[in-house]
Amino acid sequence: MILVQVLAHPGDDGEEANAMAERKYAFSWALLGDVGLGRPNLGPTTRLETYRLMQFTFRDVIEQRHGAAEADRIFQEAGVMAGKAFYANVLKGAADFPEFVAKAQKALADLSIGILRIEKADMDALSLVLTMAEDLDCSGLPDLGTEVCTYDEGFLAGMLEAFTGKAFRVKEIDCWCTGGRTCRFTADVIA
Ligand SMILES: [Zn+2]
Repeated sequence: MILVQVLAHPGDDGEEANAMAERKYAFSWALLGDVGLGRPNLGPTTRLETYRLMQFTFRDVIEQRHGAAEADRIFQEAGVMAGKAFYANVLKGAADFPEFVAKAQKALADLSIGILRIEKADMDALSLVLTMAEDLDCSGLPDLGTEVCTYDEGFLAGMLEAFTGKAFRVKEIDCWCTGGRTCRFTADVIA
């Protein structure tokens, strides 16, 4: 009945609802595929430049269509989705904060995603300062005068939310693209 009403009133909110019903790419871990099966000769790795080629062309198109602020929000939101999925499928849970940190550091290093360190952690206040060195998104980029690791912000927030059950606001405060040599993030629970 609701669907009939939606179809009968295209152009208003119904159009958006209809588009949602037709989603082609709702994310699931299965979309990462069986790489061993699919790439018996080339294997699971590629050059980092190809990841950046995809990310920065996506960013450009999204920015041209929706503006820079919305592009950042989209990357951050996708990062949250990735962080939650990474926690569930790679870290597979953690009993306490030291285990969470140890598992995250190992997995991020094993997968060559980055070198995670915890500079400060107040787990009563759920307030942290983290660094990610040699990260995928910005290490070695030109100085752009602005932090670019919005996907990382979301990724860290997603992992922290999956572990604690509470939403986090993660903000990059140092980045290769602002002259730093490691990315530094504040992470605070959203009250
Ligand atoms: Zn950065």
